[in-house]
Amino acid sequence: MEALQLQRLQETVARVYRQVPFYRKALEEKGLRPEDIKTLADVSKLPFTTKQDLRDNYPYGLFALPLKDVVRLHGSSGTTGKPIVVGYSRQDLDDWSELLARVITQATVGPEDVTQIAFGYGLFTGGFGLHYGMEKVGSTVVPMSSGNSEKQIMLMQDFGTTALVSTPSYALHLVEVAQKMGIDPKKDLSLRVGLFGGEPCSQGMEAALQELWGIRVTDNYGLTEVGGPGVSGDCGLGEGQHISEDFYLAEIIDPDTCEVLPYGEEGELVITTLRKEACPVLRYRTRDITRLMPEPCSCGRTTLRMKKIRGRSDDMLIIKGVNVFPSQIEVVLAEVAAVAMHYQMVVTKEGYSDALEIKVELEPAYFTDDWRQLKEIEKNILRVLKRVVGIECKITLVSPQSLERTAGKAKRVLDLRNN
Ligand SMILES: [Zn+2]
Repeated sequence: MEALQLQRLQETVARVYRQVPFYRKALEEKGLRPEDIKTLADVSKLPFTTKQDLRDNYPYGLFALPLKDVVRLHGSSGTTGKPIVVGYSRQDLDDWSELLARVITQATVGPEDVTQIAFGYGLFTGGFGLHYGMEKVGSTVVPMSSGNSEKQIMLMQDFGTTALVSTPSYALHLVEVAQKMGIDPKKDLSLRVGLFGGEPCSQGMEAALQELWGIRVTDNYGLTEVGGPGVSGDCGLGEGQHISEDFYLAEIIDPDTCEVLPYGEEGELVITTLRKEACPVLRYRTRDITRLMPEPCSCGRTTLRMKKIRGRSDDMLIIKGVNVFPSQIEVVLAEVAAVAMHYQMVVTKEGYSDALEIKVELEPAYFTDDWRQLKEIEKNILRVLKRVVGIECKITLVSPQSLERTAGKAKRVLDLRNN
């Protein structure tokens, strides 16, 4: 594996040096030529690539192939302004299907399954990525796309859908829709497995989805900038996600000093693509916080694994000096029976100090106007929060179904400190 990785790394560096002026300049600034990459450890000499670099070179500035050899474009929606664009050669698309086929096979999905894809189809990489991977493994694909929730449930029932592909937050919403339609997801549907991605799926969220749907929950990882989903996937043993190391070289760095950290230490994931033709990327700073585990997994696979993403460094809140991730809040909420997994974190400034308020939806069964009972639930959440995260904040209980639902990625954090 290491010999293959080195060969592909050398080819990638040579390709971008030759074809992409941005990288040639970045390598020259470091006094590097492709032949200076002699070992895998030499990757640490290479320049980083950031999201800003992709924005600055919009749309085609980082492409290593002329457009006549590019057969597909995808992009990230981007909350404001121009999206980020990535291109795929025919070979890149074949590779992408292979990467997703691995993720899907690990999630135990195959020819016997009917898979409903509730990821958006379009510029977003999720829909098409999973679609072609599913076809490659021979699953029957229902390309439903996102939204239209009642129809999603109807088709699930009528088509006998066994596998669902969506963001974890949309799956959480769909289960409510099913219940509202009078459908018991555990009895009336054939769903047995969920492949969730597009946003971090915390342990708390995983537990909630398992419980509500009664299915096997798997998490997979990828990001548009390095080609979309397919970087890694869950084998179902709860021991992290297997990285396709022949396509992606992973490192962990300290996000502040940019120093490479040894296996096992937590930090920011950095990815170098090893086989991309159209859009190769050197040392992409993902902003995702995780750790790498080199030990072979009990499933028998020997590839490097990454822990569940703990959060994005962008989403990390520092509340009175304590690092807080939305994923930690989900662990807390999963422990408290009276509340649902729907929540929003609102950060404001009170004087010179940060103040965090968490809005949490009550479970319908606990919805009450009994003030004492509500105070009891609040106290309960605060107690678990203190133990799990080590912070104090304000809890606001809101009525069931009152927080916004989304068919894509959930917006969990509202930071009002700069407004
Ligand atoms: Zn495994």
